[in-house]
Amino acid sequence: MNTLNVPEIFGSLVFNNDVMHERLPKETYEALHECIDNNKPLTLDIAQAVASAMKTWAVEKGATHFTHWFQPMTGITAEKHDSFIVPVGDGKVIMDFSGKELIRSEPDASSFPSGGLRATFEARGYTAWDPTSFAFIKDKTLCIPSIFCSYGGQVLDKKTPLLRSLQALNKQAMRVINALGNPTGATHVSATVGGEQEYFLIDRDVYNQREDLKLTGRTLFGAKPPKGQEMEDHYFGTIKPRVKAFMDDLDIELWKLGIYAKTEHNEVAPAQHELAPIFSDTNTATDQNQLTMEIMKTVAIKHNLACLIHEKPFAGVNGSGKHNNWSVTTNTGVNLFDPGKTPAENTIFLVFLAAVVKGVDEYQDLLRVSVASPGNDHRLGGDEAPPAIVSMYLGDELGAVVDAIEHDESFEPMEKAVMKSGVKVIPRFDKDTSDRNRTSPFAFTGNKFEFRMLGSSASLSSPNIVLNTMLAEELSQMATILETAKTLDEAEIMAQQLVSDYLKDHGRIIFNGNNYSEEWVKEAERRGLLNLKTSADAVPAYLAEKNIALFEKHKIYSREELESRYEISLENYCKVLHIEALTMTEMVKKDIYPAVCEYMGMLAKTINEKTQVCECLKCESEKDLLMKLSKNADELYSKTKALEEQLSKAEHDYDIKSQADYYRDVISESMASLRESADTLEAITASDFWPFPTYTDILNSVV
Ligand code: ADP
Ligand code: MG
Repeated sequence: MNTLNVPEIFGSLVFNNDVMHERLPKETYEALHECIDNNKPLTLDIAQAVASAMKTWAVEKGATHFTHWFQPMTGITAEKHDSFIVPVGDGKVIMDFSGKELIRSEPDASSFPSGGLRATFEARGYTAWDPTSFAFIKDKTLCIPSIFCSYGGQVLDKKTPLLRSLQALNKQAMRVINALGNPTGATHVSATVGGEQEYFLIDRDVYNQREDLKLTGRTLFGAKPPKGQEMEDHYFGTIKPRVKAFMDDLDIELWKLGIYAKTEHNEVAPAQHELAPIFSDTNTATDQNQLTMEIMKTVAIKHNLACLIHEKPFAGVNGSGKHNNWSVTTNTGVNLFDPGKTPAENTIFLVFLAAVVKGVDEYQDLLRVSVASPGNDHRLGGDEAPPAIVSMYLGDELGAVVDAIEHDESFEPMEKAVMKSGVKVIPRFDKDTSDRNRTSPFAFTGNKFEFRMLGSSASLSSPNIVLNTMLAEELSQMATILETAKTLDEAEIMAQQLVSDYLKDHGRIIFNGNNYSEEWVKEAERRGLLNLKTSADAVPAYLAEKNIALFEKHKIYSREELESRYEISLENYCKVLHIEALTMTEMVKKDIYPAVCEYMGMLAKTINEKTQVCECLKCESEKDLLMKLSKNADELYSKTKALEEQLSKAEHDYDIKSQADYYRDVISESMASLRESADTLEAITASDFWPFPTYTDILNSVV
């Protein structure tokens, strides 16, 4: 075993188990883990001892401040720094940090989105230490992962419901496992997640010249470049030196934070890349992904690059997603999604598989809403991304097992074929029993499910809350039946019956074909699957009675908390579109229109001058171009005026759903139409006059 230890080589900024083991008194360390492992409340004594060790460690590492680091509904993280210094009289100050400060903090909650949960005058909100995730140091500040709730105890963040969903999953999974005799010897079940992250890297000077990228994260204008991704020469291509330098730096920054970035490669679109970390427990993975996105942006700045994490920064080339690899494991190390060598005989695996199939079918609307964002609307259903329709891919081998169960037939295991390259010197190896399906939104990939609908900027929390809760629900239904069995044999027979019933009843959600095809859209409709194209269509799923019942039953969200999420999501949808539309009108008025006028002026001047030289010079090309420019400039002008009028009407207080519908139907249509005129003008305006870097300039800005 190689013992080169990453934290020892690169340094560590995480207050992890090793550090705690080394620095906490033995009793405190054990008491802390007793609480974490068994989900028991922590005492102030333990917190006091942890706080003291944390402070000493952090100060030794150069930290001067601390903050509760939390994830409000803004989609990004929040922090409010306090320094460690405390006055001790006589004008002296010391560095101190108490257990109370570790446990809770009280940021002003009134400026975070609450969706009506908290009136503005009731500003009190609390953050509370989450001891199940590790504290870390960033910018000389000790960051303490925390939850965030209102004075009345309502959830104002993304972490609390995630932790609740993990609790619910544990409870229901253990019921099923116990009812089946607990062959794994488990006492606890949890979900693991590996989040693959896509992003674009462009030169910062180019980025700074684009108002749209700076204000909205995506280009709102841009004519199609002569060369986009047609040649398929970027995917896995050689990594350019500047990008490589960025990736190397990024890896080290992430490793120091205990985020084990493993794979980095070029993605399909020019200037697009991907990072995949080693998976971990869901809570850690979610915190770490949030941190990864932040660190990517700051490391990019150091390299004079801009890292774009928007779902669709450029029209016409691939957008960026995030793949949520998800599995469920016992504390004895058994992955419950691992089919083993003989899946057809692996009852526990089949029970969990059937529960996922039923869950994905029954809660497809919630899975869709869990990935809904205005940015992702541009991506889902685009050529390169899964459609807005949720379906599952199981692969050939598992598909055959499911088929056999559905048709009450026996299953013949497939033989592993040997891969032959036709070149003798190349070693032979076993092929996988199933190919991959890159088009599926929810694919079984050997021993985990890969949910691929997430947008690149999304927090991992929302989709995992839904995944864990829907699975908890299906398992609870199974457990209630299995627990009535008098013997283990009877439980086994009941389990097989349940698996068979679930797969027969919910087989419509399984689709192994090409999800990008037009035929699938029709076929899905025939199967009665949902196709919620935009966020405005998807968000109302939060308020469907079956979904409220689900979340209330498992104590994830109350009805009010769901109503608040509904409000916040739709409000966010309207705000994003509003800002984008305003950015467009401003770019047209301040830059595009003046530039086109100047170019037209130059052409008109040329025509005049040429005609003065000789009447015989007809200036046909200049006139033709001038006419085209003038026609499109007029259109640009009138479309801008129209959009401005529509925007002024949008701000009146309709109810939030009709407002979102208005943005979807009216504003986004007008934005698309305005863009068309501007892009036409870009294609016929001389480069010297065009006010912004073009798609070619941007996508090839890093050399
Ligand atoms: P690909 O999607 O290219 O096939 P991999 O199979 O290597 O890539 O894994 C992709 C991601 O899935 C990685 O982040 C990896 O850590 C994660 N992963 C692997 N196994 C699990 C698991 N059991 N649970 C959660 N994530 C996992
Ligand atoms: Mg993947």
